[in-house]
Amino acid sequence: MNLKNKVCLITGSARGIGEGIARRFVADGAHVVIADLRLEDAKATAEALTRVGPGKAMAVAMDVTNEDQVNAGVAEVIAKWKRIDVLVSNAGVQIVHKLQDFPFADWKRMLAIHLDGAFLTSKACLPHMYEQGSGSIIFMGSVHSKEASPLKSAYVTAKHGLLGLARVIAKEGAARGVRSNVICPGFVKTPLVEKQIPEQSRALGISEEDVVNKVMLGQTVDQEFTTIEDVAEVAYTFAAFPTNALTGQSLVVSHGWFME
Ligand code: NAD
Repeated sequence: MNLKNKVCLITGSARGIGEGIARRFVADGAHVVIADLRLEDAKATAEALTRVGPGKAMAVAMDVTNEDQVNAGVAEVIAKWKRIDVLVSNAGVQIVHKLQDFPFADWKRMLAIHLDGAFLTSKACLPHMYEQGSGSIIFMGSVHSKEASPLKSAYVTAKHGLLGLARVIAKEGAARGVRSNVICPGFVKTPLVEKQIPEQSRALGISEEDVVNKVMLGQTVDQEFTTIEDVAEVAYTFAAFPTNALTGQSLVVSHGWFME
């Protein structure tokens, strides 16, 4: 099992979990595509990863909710590296409100980033994977693909939806060597989570310390955050696994917060 010279497109990888996955893949000799809204940051990440090696990295500008930008980004990768072996659809944001206060525009934006993003990037990559006769598609789900929390109606709905999409791709893709799986992390300390601590504190009327210790880590087995490296290791397994034996699955990596 390895990713040497495999071309791996990772969305939302200028920072956070996506960057950590790109770092893990490059360390194994992969050629990674840092696809992000924020092109300047994506370029800086790609340069830093190429310096570390042994794999290489390129940056592409991509808003995953925009079909033209997704298709243009994938075309750029094909022009440069001729193939796409792995797609990690990871770009995501969090918006929290009680349902009765949830602005409809924010609901639509959440579904667009998480669900349209997964659909559009898969649709753009699949023809290349089918032509090659192999590929691995990975969606960044969450414990919230399996579990609900107050304030997160759009996020929980979208993350549950990714399980269905991955299972359909697993069935459609099997005959052409394409696998599809979902990673479901618990809380990881990235900017996405740092931002939620004061927001949840205000919305729930509790201290920031209680948000961390009770809301975020209260149900883990050891009160620990999951790390970017933990998630990257699971992504590596899904990406490099050699056969259809591992497809249509979801794996929770959450310090036991959620147990299947
Ligand atoms: P982050 O905010 O640190 O990074 C997200 C990246 O996605 C940023 O670089 C941002 O520019 C990019 N992005 C946002 N919208 C985009 C768009 N429309 N098109 C392209 N790029 C876009 O977040 P993170 O914590 O690393 O989260 C990454 C993924 O992991 C998300 O899907 C998130 O839901 C999921 N996740 C995170 C946690 C956690 O605790 N941090 C837990 C479970 C799942």
